[in-house]
Amino acid sequence: METLEFQSEARQLLRLMIHSVYSNKDTFLRELVSNASDALDKLRLETFRDKDLVADTSDLHVAVEVDREARTLTVRDNGIGMTRDEVIGLIGTIAKSGTAEFLQKLKESKDAASQDLIGQFGIGFYSSFMVADKVTLVTRHPRAEGVRWESTGEGTYTIEDVADAPQGTSVTLHLKPADPEDHLADYTSTAKITEIVKRYADFITWPIRLAKEDGAEPTTINSRKALWARPASEVTEDEYAEFYRHVSHDWNKPLETIRMHGEGVFEYQALLFIPSQAPLDLFMRERKRGVQLYVKRVFIMDDCEELMPEYLRFVKGVVDAQDLSLNVSRELLQQDRQIQLVRRRLVKKVLSTVKGLMADKPESYETFWREFGGAVKEGLLSDPDNRDAILDIASFASTADAGKPTTLAAYVERMKDDQQHVYYMTGDSRATVENSPHLEALRAKGFEVLILTDPIDEMWVDAVPGYRGKTFQSIAKGQVDLETEEEKARAQERQKDFADFLEWMSTTLTDRVKEVRLSSRLTTSPACVVGDAHDLTPTLEKMYRAMGQELPPVKRILELNPDHALITGLHKAFADRGGEDASLVESAELVHGLALLAEGGDLPDPSRFVRLLAEHLERTL
Ligand code: ADP
Repeated sequence: METLEFQSEARQLLRLMIHSVYSNKDTFLRELVSNASDALDKLRLETFRDKDLVADTSDLHVAVEVDREARTLTVRDNGIGMTRDEVIGLIGTIAKSGTAEFLQKLKESKDAASQDLIGQFGIGFYSSFMVADKVTLVTRHPRAEGVRWESTGEGTYTIEDVADAPQGTSVTLHLKPADPEDHLADYTSTAKITEIVKRYADFITWPIRLAKEDGAEPTTINSRKALWARPASEVTEDEYAEFYRHVSHDWNKPLETIRMHGEGVFEYQALLFIPSQAPLDLFMRERKRGVQLYVKRVFIMDDCEELMPEYLRFVKGVVDAQDLSLNVSRELLQQDRQIQLVRRRLVKKVLSTVKGLMADKPESYETFWREFGGAVKEGLLSDPDNRDAILDIASFASTADAGKPTTLAAYVERMKDDQQHVYYMTGDSRATVENSPHLEALRAKGFEVLILTDPIDEMWVDAVPGYRGKTFQSIAKGQVDLETEEEKARAQERQKDFADFLEWMSTTLTDRVKEVRLSSRLTTSPACVVGDAHDLTPTLEKMYRAMGQELPPVKRILELNPDHALITGLHKAFADRGGEDASLVESAELVHGLALLAEGGDLPDPSRFVRLLAEHLERTL
């Protein structure tokens, strides 16, 4: 026998369970039954794939056994079991992504909030320690010897080989005394067990058996009906919610439930859920997708990526296909035209469901977009076929309604009569965008501008040409044409006046800027920097550099406000003194620095800028 230590994150999680104030302790049984059911699915699948596997699949089931005298409760399955290494890896360690982050959040939160967090994380096997002070697990994998694991959940566990373990896994809980104050029911009561199983695990398709009295024959206590195969009118919201928990390991209620079926050449039924909260690992690379594939009620695989594109990875649920072989592999699925067709339908249905929420349940829609909008926008790049449908359900912060996101349809509705473009500006935060000089003229003229601050926004705006006939136009790139005919004529005059000056500025700043020109977008700032239509934006440039990409410095255009006293003053001084004047050259440099600072950018040489500015200020005193 060996005594091993739990990995430190596992230890923290266990401590949490032992001292849990979580009021819904009944849920431990759901976790154990759910694991048992998964183990049965896996064994059946394994025997399909590997004909040489020696295992008995004639009576796959879950058995719940109580011993009132010994105060133990055992959940037994004759499924896939675990090897010794698996027991150590799966039970002694927590490899779940996001664990560290989760524990950190827990530390920071108060008790009440931590309950939700525990629920969101899904605690699985460890929840046994909410109700038991010792847990014994005996398991055997068809290709390995049996193993016995035991722990009180405090720091260490023991593990030893056992000779005659039956196929599958049994988990025996040595129950804490019943204590209503601590939400601990009497879990040796078969009535209580039946109630919990009915409530949490009725839809599990494997039989769950329990002997109701001492010495009696065990009977099946769940109805075993696949939820997606029952008529929608007969399934209650609670049943959906329970099933959702089973497939998602998320204890919150789903935001929306979607049922679909397809008939004809390829028959399938689907039961999908949109969660109400994004998982902690939504933006982590290794995260899995949430749709399970069944064939004729038989579980085939988790995370069936052939059925749901990555940008909808948060959608959970089940697709049950009638006409696939039970032996179907991922490789075959990838090539299957029917599966591709089903996937297209599921995607359309999810997007149209969200669109329905916008109209019928605006609050649910807001939750949806807040939680998942960042992921959905990836689809603007990866799923061009559904671009319009995605744009239809998107919303964005805007200058129109402080803080409140707007849809594109609402933006278009508010557009001025002669407005051709949907104006937007990207940046790392709302504040940077709102304070940027680029916004001035648009704001002065009453144009609405979308404020795009998600990193993904930088990517899709370049790829998506427009929305319902209106093109997207960055206000920080290219020429923004906001002038009336009259203004244009005046601008041309000006251009002539300033021509020499602009040329001198361009030459003076040639190392730093591509061009110096007059601006029509500024009202109160003296100058701003803008990109050419196809230049990288400063945020993108930063992102690429942060990812370690080597980029040549991106030179941008300096625009001057010909109505600003600083610029007219500089223009006059240039006319009087000529371009050789050292102080003027420094002023040109300062104007460029101011423009960079105004958009929240970095100065090429901050200490030089500060010295020049101090000297110039000094001279004004
Ligand atoms: P989760 O079920 O959320 O993955 P658990 O802590 O409940 O987390 O279980 C961890 C892993 O241990 C499972 O993913 C599974 O691989 C394995 N496991 C748990 N219970 C059983 C069981 N009864 N039979 C076989 N494997 C099991």
